[in-house]
Amino acid sequence: MQLRLAGEQLHIEGWPGVVAVNRSEVAARRQGYGLLLEWQAPAGHCAMLLEPETAATLAAWLPSITVQRDSSTRRWLWSALFLSIGLPLLLLALFFAFRAKIVDAVVARIPAAQEINLGEQLWQMQSARLKLIKGTAANRFLEEIGTRLAQARPTPYSYRFSLADDPSVNAFAMPAGFIVVHRGLIEKTASAEEVAGVLAHEIEHAEQRHALRGLAQELGFTAVWIAVTGDVGGGVAGEWLKGLAGMQFSRAQEAAADAGGYQRLLAAKIDPRGMASFFETLSGQQGDLPGGLSLLSTHPASAERAAALKAQLQSAPSFPPLPYDWATIRASIAR
Ligand SMILES: [Zn+2]
Repeated sequence: MQLRLAGEQLHIEGWPGVVAVNRSEVAARRQGYGLLLEWQAPAGHCAMLLEPETAATLAAWLPSITVQRDSSTRRWLWSALFLSIGLPLLLLALFFAFRAKIVDAVVARIPAAQEINLGEQLWQMQSARLKLIKGTAANRFLEEIGTRLAQARPTPYSYRFSLADDPSVNAFAMPAGFIVVHRGLIEKTASAEEVAGVLAHEIEHAEQRHALRGLAQELGFTAVWIAVTGDVGGGVAGEWLKGLAGMQFSRAQEAAADAGGYQRLLAAKIDPRGMASFFETLSGQQGDLPGGLSLLSTHPASAERAAALKAQLQSAPSFPPLPYDWATIRASIAR
């Protein structure tokens, strides 16, 4: 096909024969880098797409060229692009921008019954990995004081307090009230009140759903990732347990657990001074402790927290000491 300009006419040769198009009757508009020519012929509507080079030579001859694109094609193209790339990216961006608020909203809407169900599944898996100590005076202490603290306020959970045969100074709270204390913590504490302070703090982590929130944050990301990539894999519970092992609470969460724990000790009529004295013990110990669910790796500023508590303690009421002989309790788990 050849194009030839003849005055006011454009001759298109080989279409078949020669087609003559009048300059005044042709409409031209840009299509990408090329040019789309359209005109009405006796046979009907004609259209021809010109390559960029041909378009350039013809541009001067044409009366006018509209820049408007084929809008329906464009719109379709943009929609397809948006749906395949833009939308997932937008969702991802929105998710990151509002991540904390989204996670808060999701966590607030998880019914207690569902959390308890999840907590029990997690505990089954987690407890199988722990070497638990059972039936000692230390177990009885944890159960009695833990229950007293847990029931000082209304709670949807049935708390379970376990003792792990582990020498590290550690304690952690799993979703729905599964609290674990390590043997090392009992060995390093000087009084029943110190352990009560740790229990009150861990109970607050559970009540304020800190572990659940951390898990939702991890799974929330996974959920979005699945939506973007279509890559679904792995058992959900397994994922949650993995997330739990790597979890770190924020400073704000720790401060909230301290503040709530302090109030909880008062409500249970237990002297809160033990909480502060244990933080002092902790602050001298940091550095040689394991990560993961570690009480200390997640509680980095023990000295600071002891100082904050001390200010509160000046006005704290006194309660009679807890009726436990701490030496006997420590001896019950001695190795
Ligand atoms: Zn904590």
